[in-house]
Amino acid sequence: MSLDIKFLEAEIQDQYLNDDSPRPWIIGFSGGKDSTMLLQLVWLAIRRLPQELRTRHIYVVCNDTLVENPKIAQFVHQTLKSLQIAAASQGMPLTVHETTPILEETFWVNLLGKGYPAPNNMFRWCTERLKINPTTDFIKTKISETGEVIILLGTRSAESSNRARSIKKYEVKGERLRKHILPNAYVFALIKDVLTDEVWTYLLQVDPPWGGTNRDLVTLYRNANGGDCPLVIDDTTPSCGNSRFGCWVCTVVNKDKSMEALIDNGEEWMIPLSDFRDMLQEERNNREWREKRRRNSDITGEDVWGPYYPEKRALMLKTLLEAQKEVQKSEPDLILINYQELVAIQVTWHRDSIFNHSVAEIYNEVYGTDLSKTDFSDNTIFEKEILQEACHDNTEFELINELLEIQKSRYIMVNNYGLQSDIENHLEYHIKHKK
Ligand code: SF4
Repeated sequence: MSLDIKFLEAEIQDQYLNDDSPRPWIIGFSGGKDSTMLLQLVWLAIRRLPQELRTRHIYVVCNDTLVENPKIAQFVHQTLKSLQIAAASQGMPLTVHETTPILEETFWVNLLGKGYPAPNNMFRWCTERLKINPTTDFIKTKISETGEVIILLGTRSAESSNRARSIKKYEVKGERLRKHILPNAYVFALIKDVLTDEVWTYLLQVDPPWGGTNRDLVTLYRNANGGDCPLVIDDTTPSCGNSRFGCWVCTVVNKDKSMEALIDNGEEWMIPLSDFRDMLQEERNNREWREKRRRNSDITGEDVWGPYYPEKRALMLKTLLEAQKEVQKSEPDLILINYQELVAIQVTWHRDSIFNHSVAEIYNEVYGTDLSKTDFSDNTIFEKEILQEACHDNTEFELINELLEIQKSRYIMVNNYGLQSDIENHLEYHIKHKK
């Protein structure tokens, strides 16, 4: 192979050993071909060092948006498990960490809870919330623990433009690392100038040191017909919307070719997911679906495209749960939306004064269960029976109850900001509509 692997491994060892600072390494791992190559190179280079010199810790960090393509997520989880086991057995100074968005920032809480429109190029609210923030939080924690960190990224330059500048440029002292946007973080872009063909050749010739071969990865790429989704840590990383390894709900791309290719290659159980994604895309710009006022603002008008109407949020939740039920026939353990997200959607609806739709009722309708409203809210805070007895009539009970739900929603979402105005807004709404 024309690629000088020995040179790359020497670079890794030199950086690892001859750095006066004890700063740890953080490797961004997405499970795709580029970060797999990067991790393999680092692993093999460090494993060649005597055990007593492997003192710098390496964190392998992988972000799960909670809306990953399930086929890819399954593959990545399996790889992470193998990584952790092999690292321990081979005495590698390496641990695996999975990051996820915080509850208030997940895709479903924003789309179905707050009614954010499905993301597009004009309003791509998802990348920061689902990808950048969770990883950045991890990096910041490590910086606060150790002072500085080096981040190793598997991003590569465009195919040919930078090829002319040989990877030998890394030989220039002091040029190996560049400053990261975060203070006290540096980037080591080891495979920046490696070509796609060279990545594949390497992966096919060198088996992963954590076991198995890269054949499954090759098959996955072949079946998913697509490119990589590099770990996105700042705005300079290539747009994840264009990646075939992106979220299964992604509406930033016109067509999810990766999911379509997987379905064509025998994963028919994914059809309900594909249909759901198409619905998100089709209805995004449907006037009937969008409020004519901005969220948390008084701006209203015919040309204002606000959040989805509450009934559309409820409809989408029902459709999502139906899709989940359908895919569970062939993939029983697959969860498209988790319990915490369902609770967070319910509390967000309460915070937005939406009381005529209930997550429990929608869930029961789809799954035929008998869950009560309190199964999707925090019922430990207040005893409803006592409140009912203390109130003069049902309207009063309902109002106090609703105000308490708004307060609880702030408590559950760990965010008291705006509580007073939420309560005032709801009182105003109550006076207008119920009195
Ligand atoms: S893959 Fe699409 S939905 Fe996911 S974060 Fe990127 S742009 Fe957003």
